[in-house]
Amino acid sequence: MSLAGHVDRLRSGDQDLDGLGESMHAAMARLYPICRSITGDGVRATLDILGESLAIQRHAVPSGAQAFDWTVPDEWNVRDAYIADRRGLRVVDFRRHNLHLVGYSVPVRATMTLDELRPHLHTRPDQPEWIPYRTTYYHRDWGFCLPDSQLRSMDEGPYDVVIDTTIVPGELTYGELVVPGDSTDEVVVSAHLCHPSLANDNLAGIAVATELARTLTSLAKRRHTYRFLFAPGTIGSITWLSRNADVLPRIRHGLVLTGLGGPGGLVYKRSRRGTRGIDRAAAHVVAGRGGEVRDYSPYGYDERQFNSIGFDLPFGRLSRTPHGEYPEYHTSADDLSFVKPSQLAESYLAVLEIVDVLENDERYENLSPHGEPQLGKRGLYPTTGGRAADEAVMAMLWALAYSDGSTSLLDIASVAGVDFAGLRRAAGHLEAAGLMAPAR
Ligand code: ZN
Repeated sequence: MSLAGHVDRLRSGDQDLDGLGESMHAAMARLYPICRSITGDGVRATLDILGESLAIQRHAVPSGAQAFDWTVPDEWNVRDAYIADRRGLRVVDFRRHNLHLVGYSVPVRATMTLDELRPHLHTRPDQPEWIPYRTTYYHRDWGFCLPDSQLRSMDEGPYDVVIDTTIVPGELTYGELVVPGDSTDEVVVSAHLCHPSLANDNLAGIAVATELARTLTSLAKRRHTYRFLFAPGTIGSITWLSRNADVLPRIRHGLVLTGLGGPGGLVYKRSRRGTRGIDRAAAHVVAGRGGEVRDYSPYGYDERQFNSIGFDLPFGRLSRTPHGEYPEYHTSADDLSFVKPSQLAESYLAVLEIVDVLENDERYENLSPHGEPQLGKRGLYPTTGGRAADEAVMAMLWALAYSDGSTSLLDIASVAGVDFAGLRRAAGHLEAAGLMAPAR
């Protein structure tokens, strides 16, 4: 199977896109309960599950290792954490929801009144039923997160506070999968895996990235080599960058995948330079799907690290509504019901269409450039009408009109306002009929 064929079957409905959405959602549901952080058992458990269907290589970097301006932190693991009332009833319980514990909380065993506890309790008064998500990676502290409505109902106590965690030298773990292609030129796809029970913010990106990895692995051939990174945010990508200087010169395109569920439309964030190949490919696909294309800003996910001046790598980011712009962001409401299978399916298809451009954008030469060639006598002019047929003819006319050997299909797509996949199909038909050939 070719990538183009796969894209065309999904777009035409010949292959079940809804089913793919369901299976990505089911994959998220398995990962959702795991308590992930930037280090620890949760990261390894997540990579264990991803490794069931993909030959992901696991890398461990010891605590204390230096990565540019950063140091790999001690490893954090949780056995238990709760706040119990005088009768021993757990009123806030990590086992009920892992967002209840502030990530990287140090061990605590104490009896405290509500007033003493208060500086360590985090709520969202504007969203009183939701548990917020908080971490304290690089500053030793502890805390609990809970719905504001619950905090309001708590009496003065005293309470038993137990945080049974460890923060000790260990390792930072990340996963990497290389899918070789005809060329050593690389496309890097990165998704962060450091968030606990949050669905859109990390699991949606992981689900789409792993589905893409499975698809690319199943193809007979690929033009580019694909490298997938499943690493904790910031420290993970910086650590990877610090250990892969030899890979960096081969990177032609990079895409950070995150927040690919939720009701909002697709949003592509350009690379810092804004004019890279990935920018043109993704902007074309996202605009064609009614999405939004934004300029770079030095805030967000790991695109910040890859685009930093010292690396200057061509990384864009694909999401739906970006972080911080939907109320459920970083709260317990970013759960499995917030991300719908159909949203994952559309996001996956959009990523696949971007990859289709990276793989198949080509310059052609019109071999019959003196006037319009007669399509009918070559069986290229449909005998039945209809919109799809009209579009197919128009795509062939555009391809013939501009294929002078130096104008690529993506160039033509943007001039013509037709989509790349349609133009790529038209070029295939014209090539088969001897009317066009790839430019030398
Ligand atoms: Zn986040």
